[in-house]
Amino acid sequence: MRERKFKKRHCKYCELKVDAIDYKDEKLLKYSLSERYKIMPRRLTGNCKKHQELVNVAIKRARHTALIPYVVDTKNVVEIPFETNTSYR
Ligand SMILES: [Zn+2]
Repeated sequence: MRERKFKKRHCKYCELKVDAIDYKDEKLLKYSLSERYKIMPRRLTGNCKKHQELVNVAIKRARHTALIPYVVDTKNVVEIPFETNTSYR
């Protein structure tokens, strides 16, 4: 009895038994971020409500501390005059 791969969605954070999401933990945040660093909606990630809320807060905090960018353009605009020392990554 095999279920279809994407039919049943599990909350990755529940699977990993995470009960607090650290904003510095990029690996955890990435589960809920799209490739353009947007927060993925719960219906796509399958996260439970509790963890989605946790990750939302963590992502906002991470953005605030410049760990992850707010907006990533497809054209990749790198020249930002105010941020000369973007040493992350
Ligand atoms: Zn969960």
